[in-house]
Amino acid sequence: MSVQVVSAAAAAKVPEVELKDLSPSEVEPQLGLSTAAVSAMAPPAGGGDPEAPAPAAERPPARGPGSGPAAALSPAAGKVPQASAMKRSDPHHQHQRHRDGGEALVSPDGTVTEAPRTVKKQIQFADQKQEFNKRPTKIGRRSLSRSISQSSTDSYSSAASYTDSSDDETSPRDKQQKNSKGSSDFCVKNIKQAEFGRREIEIAEQEMPALMALRKRAQGEKPLAGAKIVGCTHITAQTAVLMETLGALGAQCRWAACNIYSTLNEVAAALAESGFPVFAWKGESEDDFWWCIDRCVNVEGWQPNMILDDGGDLTHWIYKKYPNMFKKIKGIVEESVTGVHRLYQLSKAGKLCVPAMNVNDSVTKQKFDNLYCCRESILDGLKRTTDMMFGGKQVVVCGYGEVGKGCCAALKAMGSIVYVTEIDPICALQACMDGFRLVKLNEVIRQVDIVITCTGNKNVVTREHLDRMKNSCIVCNMGHSNTEIDVASLRTPELTWERVRSQVDHVIWPDGKRIVLLAEGRLLNLSCSTVPTFVLSITATTQALALIELYNAPEGRYKQDVYLLPKKMDEYVASLHLPTFDAHLTELTDEQAKYLGLNKNGPFKPNYYRY
Ligand code: NAD
Repeated sequence: MSVQVVSAAAAAKVPEVELKDLSPSEVEPQLGLSTAAVSAMAPPAGGGDPEAPAPAAERPPARGPGSGPAAALSPAAGKVPQASAMKRSDPHHQHQRHRDGGEALVSPDGTVTEAPRTVKKQIQFADQKQEFNKRPTKIGRRSLSRSISQSSTDSYSSAASYTDSSDDETSPRDKQQKNSKGSSDFCVKNIKQAEFGRREIEIAEQEMPALMALRKRAQGEKPLAGAKIVGCTHITAQTAVLMETLGALGAQCRWAACNIYSTLNEVAAALAESGFPVFAWKGESEDDFWWCIDRCVNVEGWQPNMILDDGGDLTHWIYKKYPNMFKKIKGIVEESVTGVHRLYQLSKAGKLCVPAMNVNDSVTKQKFDNLYCCRESILDGLKRTTDMMFGGKQVVVCGYGEVGKGCCAALKAMGSIVYVTEIDPICALQACMDGFRLVKLNEVIRQVDIVITCTGNKNVVTREHLDRMKNSCIVCNMGHSNTEIDVASLRTPELTWERVRSQVDHVIWPDGKRIVLLAEGRLLNLSCSTVPTFVLSITATTQALALIELYNAPEGRYKQDVYLLPKKMDEYVASLHLPTFDAHLTELTDEQAKYLGLNKNGPFKPNYYRY
């Protein structure tokens, strides 16, 4: 009996992503992440427990064209399918994880697929923002920031900043600062915080094993030698570990923040002290935001050849202001839903002029970031803001996707009584079979102690719901944008708002009833807690690999299109994190591999596999 391995052509009917026909046997000849990318991720010679079976991806390589010192270190004989084999041919005619509401598309063959949903932020650039001279007041700056993108809340940063420098009103742009080597090519809140930031980075390093391994293993070869990476991401300790890894691999980096609030000032200072031109601080105005991005790209004698973006703002700034730079840029790596959506828009319009890697839709990003990150951080966010006890509390979680599943699991484990609302019968059935009561929000709204939204939708909690909540009910959101709870409806004259803590408001009704609104309906974990470094390590490793691959790819491997990282690379990123758990991966025997029709070194699942 043989097991039929369904080709990815069949997968195209399952509208996860549209893939080129790619059966495992066909994968083999196409394998070949560039040597540099593969060797960069190779296990250290003699490293690890000699008794322990190495993860599949760390097995000694087979001989072949890729053999040699680099390939000798390679996972699975350097055989990683190139991402081009997995590109989406028409992203706008396929399912993506659009979380902001959407509609169905019917393709010519009658297949119903999910259309890209409305993305609140258009590709829209305020060209006038290039004028950096008019500097608003601090209050003005804050209000300006409302119009800024909700850039990439799909990647998360530690929101905690230990040094509160809010009393220092001087804009970093007005300060003359130098690091200890005399360089002033940076703009951070306070360079004197560098030592403290360094400690934060050291803590993060402990939970980012794959990046640290990558640093050690590839240092000799410097797969990013000559790379000039301009980055725009949250500037946190985890990002610092990524940047320093890229630096160790030979890259020069210049960095700005993708979010005006998420920069850890201490970490930015530590990076600046170590010589990274970083332009970011917590509480930037919109004008500051674009100024920082501009300072990263508009430099005499330095031009980027790679982009690492989170939200698409940097990419589009270069498109609008310095389109000629794309002549030298080898590729874009994009992490967020929003940024990826913009890239697909550009691609569809025929305006994408370099290859781009969609890291957002990597399995290792979605399945870990959304589920595990939220499972760990929901309690943290609630605890830090309210000091509440969870045992016996009644909670309703709206949406049972990855984020909802994570929240429900954490709350259930703490002894809460958890209700779920869903619109999708499949997720609803999952909730039921996981032991949760599926309800309509109206049915439980009067009795619950906590309401959590995780739908990616809008107006899931309306003013009517808010009116009916009991006294002291906590309301918060774990979804991408602040549209899930109708917070605007609470800004009416009869209701009183009382700020009781940072990110905690009591909204008081005329009869004295009060509800506890967290982070004004914005992402709770992004706003009020930290998120687990280990999860970010997985995403950061994927980003680093994508950069290495794009930078080293031979001419013609990637066209001007958006690519998904190959599953083999996802598997490799996962395998690099297994040693943390002293996990021992089972290896297929030759007989089993033949029986399943798999390559012993992976990929182990078809591309449409859902995990
Ligand atoms: P998902 O699509 O897997 O899940 C969302 C679920 O909500 C779906 O099952 C959908 O059917 C359901 N839903 C939609 N409208 C609803 C409504 N009116 N009532 C009840 N259920 C409804 O998405 P996900 O991966 O779970 O992400 C959810 C949101 O969280 C997204 O906005 C995403 O960007 C964001 N996100 C947050 C974090 C975080 O750390 N907080 C991490 C990743 C993603």
